[in-house]
Amino acid sequence: MDFIDLHIHSTASDGTVRPEDIPALAEPERYERVVLSLTDHDCVSGYAACRRAAEEYPNVTVLAGVEISTDYRGNSVHMLGYGIDPEDPALQEQLKALRNGRDIRNAKILEKLRGIGIAVPEETIHPEEGEAIGRPLIARWLVENGYAKDNADAFARYLGVRGSCYVDRMKYTPKESIRLIRDAGGKAVLAHPMQYKFLQRPELEEMIALLKSEGLEGIETYYTEFTEEETRYVERLADRFGLIRTGGSDFHGENKPTYTLGYGWGNLGATFGKIEYEKLL
Ligand code: AMP
Ligand code: ZN
Ligand code: FE
Ligand code: FE
Repeated sequence: MDFIDLHIHSTASDGTVRPEDIPALAEPERYERVVLSLTDHDCVSGYAACRRAAEEYPNVTVLAGVEISTDYRGNSVHMLGYGIDPEDPALQEQLKALRNGRDIRNAKILEKLRGIGIAVPEETIHPEEGEAIGRPLIARWLVENGYAKDNADAFARYLGVRGSCYVDRMKYTPKESIRLIRDAGGKAVLAHPMQYKFLQRPELEEMIALLKSEGLEGIETYYTEFTEEETRYVERLADRFGLIRTGGSDFHGENKPTYTLGYGWGNLGATFGKIEYEKLL
């Protein structure tokens, strides 16, 4: 049996497990083949350490990946990039611009929180070189310090679009992110298509048709939160638009404690054989 997880976050962005600890967490000794992709937000800095750690296991393949948040008509749509060259100078430069946008946004969020009497320490949002800090880290601090009961509550009260301390950040369009991924030698894949609750299904299909014309090559068909019906629907979309079927858990360690590596909410093991990872290698 294989173990495939093409959607993983590490401490390089807003996960809590270090890139070098991910391969062992997949328990490679239990499987014939393990294929992993770190898809940290707006950064590729975890790839080298994850790959090095994977060298200990002859059956583990690590695919270079990234997840870029884009702005589609005022809403956030996530684009995954697989097989990119992590050293590509243009990619590095554009991801750095996105991370700068995050740093500016994060500082503004802390300022707003201070304005309502919540003093989040600066270290919470201080990135190491090449890392991308996201709101889940601020949410975690808010939960641990009693300002919210859990991650969802922290977003509902403070950090989400309707939260009292929401701040937007610089984003590319889907078209720009597809170009950036392709120019770095990668394939662009639409992340978790059923999570865009602002789109009715006909609107989602319209968006996919547009992205396909702009160079989209895959669609995340297997994902932690999808129902059986949603999964069947996305499989049909993949066929209809000629897109590669990918899948992953969106593992974030303790920042999304119910999403387990590979298996998500327990339902993803059955889909490992359907993930078309060979088309991304
Ligand atoms: P950021 O990358 O800093 O803009 O934060 C985006 C991340 O925050 C997403 O990838 C989700 O993991 C998380 N997130 C966004 N909205 C919510 C929400 N309403 N509830 C829980 N988590 C959320
Ligand atoms: Zn994340
Ligand atoms: Fe995402
Ligand atoms: Fe993700």
